[in-house]
Amino acid sequence: MGATKADMVIRNAMLIDGSGAAGVAGDLAVTGERITAIGPSLVCGADVEIDAGGKVLAPGFIDAHTHDDRAVLTNRAMACKISQGVTTVVTGNCGISIAPVTIKTRPPGPLDLVCPSPDDFMPSFAAYFAALEKAPPAVNVVAQAGHTSLRVSVMDRFDRAASEGEIEQMKALLRQALKDGAAGLSTGLYYPPANAAPREEIEALAQVVHEEGGFHSTHMRDEADGVAVSLEETFRIGRTAQVPIIISHHKCVGLANHGRSGETLGLIDAARAKQQIGLDVYPYVASSTILNKDRVALSSRTLITWSGKADGLEGRDIEEVAAEMGLSVDATVEAISPAGAIYFLMDEADVKAIMAYPATMIGSDGLPHDRHPHPRLWGTFPRVLGHYARDEKLFPLETAVHKMTGLTARTFGLKDRGVLGEGAFADLVLFDPAAVIDTATFERPETPAAGICQVFVNGRGVWRNGAATDARPGKGLCGERFLTQ
Ligand SMILES: [Zn+2]
Repeated sequence: MGATKADMVIRNAMLIDGSGAAGVAGDLAVTGERITAIGPSLVCGADVEIDAGGKVLAPGFIDAHTHDDRAVLTNRAMACKISQGVTTVVTGNCGISIAPVTIKTRPPGPLDLVCPSPDDFMPSFAAYFAALEKAPPAVNVVAQAGHTSLRVSVMDRFDRAASEGEIEQMKALLRQALKDGAAGLSTGLYYPPANAAPREEIEALAQVVHEEGGFHSTHMRDEADGVAVSLEETFRIGRTAQVPIIISHHKCVGLANHGRSGETLGLIDAARAKQQIGLDVYPYVASSTILNKDRVALSSRTLITWSGKADGLEGRDIEEVAAEMGLSVDATVEAISPAGAIYFLMDEADVKAIMAYPATMIGSDGLPHDRHPHPRLWGTFPRVLGHYARDEKLFPLETAVHKMTGLTARTFGLKDRGVLGEGAFADLVLFDPAAVIDTATFERPETPAAGICQVFVNGRGVWRNGAATDARPGKGLCGERFLTQ
């Protein structure tokens, strides 16, 4: 780069480039939104000089699985994410998306996890991306259209398959969403508003994704006893429509299914020889979603995260609350719903095996509107770096970073993100590998992680010395076509 002046140079860093390659000592220069030089001792001057003191400089983390659709508009600092080093969030997961939805009444769960009021939705992705441009958040946004969101826009009831006419309406909405910049189609076939949709309904929509470009992610129909059957259904949709598949928050749910990750990863591995498949995971043995009595029955412990009926229940164990109310657990679920919950129902060995699988990306699945959220909202990425990579030695630090950056950008087809390279966007995180750790717990979930020193989005500092800055440089990443690999 010679003696050209840069806006900022970060010197004396351990550069982990996101590819999985070993870290190397060096400097990195940024001008405008982009990385302009990387090298052992850059000679260029800069307006801002930062001494990294040997700490790790990595591409900003990409949260592969979020429900941040509305949070990026209403809580633009996004402290829960930038405090972890996250610089891009993938929204619209599990069939739940903020657009394109026009409804007049409170939406059915799980849509209410993201948009409890009909006014919270947006009629189109054009309107959504325009809103992001007008009032940008601190993070970049990759947005998917949700199948359940399409269903509630065109169907009068959800306990049946969509008719041919309704499928045509959903296809038209989806096609426009993809033209407007949505990255793909998600489903949440596990949930009641989508569960009655047959495979053919999803295949018809996935065909539109094939035609317009993009991917298909899924919260599968069954992650418990029927997990293998659901994987086969997912693979088949991908093959029939010829679209890349993302299996969301892969897990084996319930005591009877603990230990089945060997089987499920074997199925995924075999299918990956024939088609494009990615998957994501969060680093905890507890899940979180709407309160549901079947899930409570599968769990060793259930904590309430919010209730639309009663105040003061958040953070409390459902069995305790049931005892206080003098009701059965099922009756308590009924009495306090709509509500959200955290469920302890996974096996640590499965979580580790899935996390270590080479194609697995890290995604938080955090629920930013919950009153007492699952700690994954604030803790996911530092927990993988500090707890699983450093302390448990599940994989090298470079592999952990790859699962949050280069792998994720490649899986979603994000151009010039997720890597340290000349010309790439300057989405960066500087962290202390010896100190990085999650501090959010099930008791105190809204706690910023330790060891995340500085975070930059599109070249601008968004997190410094344990606090968000005033910068809101995030963008809707809607100009790209997300044709993968
Ligand atoms: Zn989900």
